[in-house]
Formats: sequence, structure tokens, C-alpha cells
Amino acid sequence: MSLANLPAALADFRTAIGAANVFSSEEDRTAYADHYSPDETRHMPGAAVAPATVEQVQEIVRIANRHKVPLWQISRGKNFGYGGAAPVVKGSVVLDLTRMKRIEVDPEGGTALVESGVGFFDLYDHLQQNKLPFWLSVPGNSWGSVAGNALDRGVGYTPYGDHAAQICGLEVVLPTGELVRTGMGAMTGSKTWQLYRNGYGPGWDQMFCQSNFGVVTKLGLWLMPEPEAVLGYDLEFDGIDDLGWVVDTIAPLRREGVIRQAPSIGNWLRSASVMTTREQWTKTKGALGEDVVTAIRKRFNIGWWSVQLRTYGHVEMADAAAKVIARAFDGKPVLSMKPTRWLRSDGKPEGSPFSGVPISFPLANANWHGGRGGHVGYSPVLPAKGDLAMDQFRRTYALYEKYGMDYHASFAFGERSLTNVNQLLFDRDDPDMMGRVDAMFRELVADAKAKHYGEYRTHIEYMDLVASTYDHGGGALRKLNERVKDTLDPNGILAPGKSGIWPAASRGERA
Ligand SMILES: Cc1cc2nc3c(=O)[nH]c(=O)nc-3n(C[C@H](O)[C@H](O)[C@H](O)COP(=O)(O)OP(=O)(O)OC[C@H]3O[C@@H](n4cnc5c(N)ncnc54)[C@H](O)[C@@H]3O)c2cc1C
Repeated sequence: MSLANLPAALADFRTAIGAANVFSSEEDRTAYADHYSPDETRHMPGAAVAPATVEQVQEIVRIANRHKVPLWQISRGKNFGYGGAAPVVKGSVVLDLTRMKRIEVDPEGGTALVESGVGFFDLYDHLQQNKLPFWLSVPGNSWGSVAGNALDRGVGYTPYGDHAAQICGLEVVLPTGELVRTGMGAMTGSKTWQLYRNGYGPGWDQMFCQSNFGVVTKLGLWLMPEPEAVLGYDLEFDGIDDLGWVVDTIAPLRREGVIRQAPSIGNWLRSASVMTTREQWTKTKGALGEDVVTAIRKRFNIGWWSVQLRTYGHVEMADAAAKVIARAFDGKPVLSMKPTRWLRSDGKPEGSPFSGVPISFPLANANWHGGRGGHVGYSPVLPAKGDLAMDQFRRTYALYEKYGMDYHASFAFGERSLTNVNQLLFDRDDPDMMGRVDAMFRELVADAKAKHYGEYRTHIEYMDLVASTYDHGGGALRKLNERVKDTLDPNGILAPGKSGIWPAASRGERA
């Protein structure tokens, strides 16, 4: 692998896809940098290329092999908190699939086949304009792509919120340039590519999630039929310690399937950081005092913790599930429990991520500290148990206090697990604060590891660090990943270092 070959590769890229689709000026490179990163120079791309067709993707991959130039595939590159559009290896060429925007929806099967560049807003508009009765599941930052988010195992807030789990069939350009369709798509003209997940023989869809084994060009996805009703409750809880019993109340409902979406119990800073800036509350640096926390909660009329629970389906089903939720909280010390009710027959849009309407306003939390804002995501996965959630909260909160950072976190339910999603908000123009972020992140990862918890996803800067915590059998999983990597990508050109997977050609670069 050699970055010295970049000029010759760029000349070939221009011939293959046109000079207008090859970006190599300093301004271009900066546009593809990770603007949320503590130090964007460490992962500055060398250039970017934007093909429009699968054949062009294949050609770019072949050129990269010829010149042994590393590529970094993105669908829309809005992976803020985890690296944006930027590569692990500085100088890599970003393979930007934004121009690939074809959408096919099967209205009988309730599925979509999208090219990688299709954004959440694109697919939402397509469903609306064609009056197709399906809902998306969208992330809190919906600026990105349906494919990129699912491939990074992103999450949303409807019953289809585990996005990787909704994938049904992929089209992939392998690192050597061959094209493969997974699942039933392996049969020419298959009628069930997006309908039957397993295919015949081994299943490969999940192998392309968080990996560097291929460039996905088309992704099959199950869509949620528009329900008749969305009912539920917005709940607020007054005390820090309420987290424990709230987790224990929701976990069985989630396991039993009474609650099918992924509720997320978040603290008061979630609202405050989107609607206001820190300066509006205090001029004092360091951890926020109790007086400020109290003032914020009063202004937004929220608890220390908040959670929104929703039930979906035919009105009788949603109603029955909402009644079970009400019974579970009956007699427990909730601060407030406000019922919510949306019925399709009312003819009004529900209009939030709970109905898969794309949003971008949460991006405003980058302004919390002022200056050029950003954050890194820290997201360990733990069992869905109240005492363990409280313990996780206390240890993490103590580290926020130690490093003088503002606590911004949520506990998001899987069907059997709880992901503690933290956004370490910072001001990149504050050198003192930035001097603390790296040490804090490393201590958080070590703290989770000591409890035997691993992150579900991480920032490009920390991919090796997090991979090193998955250490069973002397790192047997990493070794398996790298054996597969070497077989599929003998020249090591595709996204070296992604998820801590390094090809033989650049294994020495592991951090
Ligand atoms: C305020 C805020 C709120 C957020 N809320 C959420 C949330 O609720 N849920 C959530 O999941 N995320 C959230 N995010 C994180 C992130 O912004 C989203 O996940 C976003 O959708 C990712 O960007 P993207 O879709 O453009 O993916 P990309 O940046 O294009 O890609 C994401 C990853 O997948 C890989 N990839 C992309 N395309 C391909 C391909 N074609 N083949 C193979 N690999 C590929 C990339 O290499 C990259 O590692 C949030 C971020 C912010 C700042």
C-alpha cells in the first residue's frame, strides 16, 4: 500500500469517471475531513472520487489495486461522532457513493432496494410523493444515508430501529472488483431477493457491516407498514437513582415484545444542548453545578431522566400494549407520565422520529460549548439490568466530573441489552478542553472493559483501541477477521484499519 502512488492513481480515476468527479484540492480534502474530530489532521483524506454507477465503482477499485492506493468507502459520510467521511489511514481516497441514488420499492412486499447514496430524506420523499404507505426508521441525525447508517449498525426509534437487522440482500463490489449479490439475489432474476433473508448456504449480509470486506452498492431493506395507531407515554423521572428501577420496569416489556421500539432513557442535557448553549446557563467552566442542572430542568419541565415509550399497530393492539405499560408503571414514583396518541384516521402526520420522519435539529448540540463544536461517541453495551445501569452511570458520571465535562448520555434498549450512548460534547477551539478528551475517552473504554463491556461502534481514532478489548482467545476474532481480509483483499486497498481490521500489507500500522 503506498500513498506515493496517489498522483498516478488520480490520473487513472479521472480517465475512468471524469475529472469533475475526482476531488483533490486542499479545499476538497478539507470538505471530506472529520469536522467533529478532536484533531482532523490525523485522518485527512488524500482525495475523493464520486462514481455514479456500479461499473465505475468496480473500475475505481481495480485502479486502486493497480496503484496500491487505499480507499475509504462512504455512502453520504455524515457519520458525525464516529469519523464523518474521513478514513482511518490519513491520505486514503474517499470513495463517495453519494451520486448513486436509485430507489426501488416493492409495495406488496413492503421492501426497498436502495443504492448507497440514497439519504433518509430522499427515501422519505420518495415514499411520500408516491403515496406509499410505509414508514422509515431514522437516526437522530437523518442527514446521512439509509445504507451507510445500516452498515454501521445505526439505530432509530420505531420497531424497525435496529437498522442492520432490517437488511435483506446486498449488492457488493469486492476489494478485487468482482460484483456479488448476497442471499436470494445470488440467483439471476431472483423474485425474493428482498423478501427472504437467509438465502441458501452461509449468509453474508452482516459480514459487510462495520467491515472492510466490500463496497455495498445496493442494499435491500424491510420497511414498516404504516400503522393505524401510535400510542404511548412521555415519562419524566426526578431522581438520579430512578434510572435503576426504570430500566427494570422497561426491560421485561421489551423482552416480551410489548414495547417493540428501542426506548432511550436520556438525561436533561439532551434537550438543553439542542435548544440552548451552555453560555446561556453559566459562564463557569468545569462540570455543571446542581443549580444549573435544576434551572435547566425547570425551564424544559423535564426530569433528571426522560424516556418516550411508543406502541404501534392496529389500534386495538397498540391500545392493549399501552395499557400493559401503564400497569407496569402504576404506583411507581414517576415525576410525570403524559399519554400520547396518534391515529391515522385523524389525518395529521405524526411528524417525529417515532414515525420515521427524518430530522436534523439534534445536530444543533454541536453548538453547546460555542466555538467549532463536535463530539465523539462512547457507547458500551451492557445487560438490560437496573443495578448494572446504575453502576455504569455512576462510574461514567465520575469520569465526566474528573475531566470537567458535561454529562450527555442515554441508555437505549435493545431486545436483551442496553447501550449506554454518550456524546462527549466539546469545543474544538478550546485547547484546554481538547487536551482532556483523548485521555477521558481512553479511560472510559478501559473502565467498560474492566466490567467486561465492549463498545457497539466507535470513532475512527479509537478503532484499534476498541478492537483490542475484544481479546478472547488472544484476539481470535481479530485474527479470523484478518484472515478473511487477506483473502478478499490481497493488496489491502479497502479501508485498512476499519474496526481494527488491518490487511497484511499495512498490519504494522495498528495503533
Ligand atoms: C446529533 C447526532 C445525533 C445522532 N443520532 C444518531 C442516531 O440516533 N442513530 C445513529 O445510528 N446514529 C446517530 N448519529 C451518528 C451518525 O450521524 C448517523 O449514524 C449517520 O447516519 C451516519 O452517516 P451516513 O449515514 O452518511 O453513513 P456514512 O458516513 O456514509 O457511513 C457510515 C459507516 O459505514 C461505512 N459505509 C458507508 N457506506 C458503505 C458502503 N456502501 N459499503 C460498505 N461500508 C459503508 C463507512 O465506511 C462508515 O464507517 C448521530 C450523530 C449526531 C451528530
